Amino acid sequence: MRIAAFLPELLRHLFKKPATIDYPFKKIAVPPGFRGTPYLRPELCIVCKACERDCPAEAIEISDVDPAEKRFRMIIHNDRCIHCAQCVDSCPTNPKAMQIDNLHEIAADDRHKLKAEWIYVRAVIKPKAAAPAAPAAPAAEPKA
Ligand code: SF4
Ligand code: SF4
Repeated sequence: MRIAAFLPELLRHLFKKPATIDYPFKKIAVPPGFRGTPYLRPELCIVCKACERDCPAEAIEISDVDPAEKRFRMIIHNDRCIHCAQCVDSCPTNPKAMQIDNLHEIAADDRHKLKAEWIYVRAVIKPKAAAPAAPAAPAAEPKA
């Protein structure tokens, strides 16, 4: 009885294309906006630490290397990262010092190999030039 109920379903699927792909031998394109692996563009980082503060997985670590030289170290622990991209959203620079790529095949046999590290000098943001002052309104004609 149970086999009879199952048989039509089995026959239907025998002639269908597989629903899965032969990964990892066949790759699929990742969709636009895919959140892969975060990375730093050190030349843009002002070391505000917003990314470290807001990371829900505590995957970002920023420390002093040489305070006199304004030299810092950032480590992203990709073994902890949950790929939420909050660090990118929190980064206030424009363009963003914190970015996320579409890499997802980053598995390793040792979690310490998943550490990404940068040692860099804090970026200096140049103040924007002041906007030109609006022309003064013409003085009102004195009434007779
Ligand atoms: S993507 Fe999310 S979990 Fe990963 S480092 Fe950024 S804020 Fe943390
Ligand atoms: S990456 Fe962005 S949010 Fe993180 S410390 Fe640098 S400037 Fe601040």
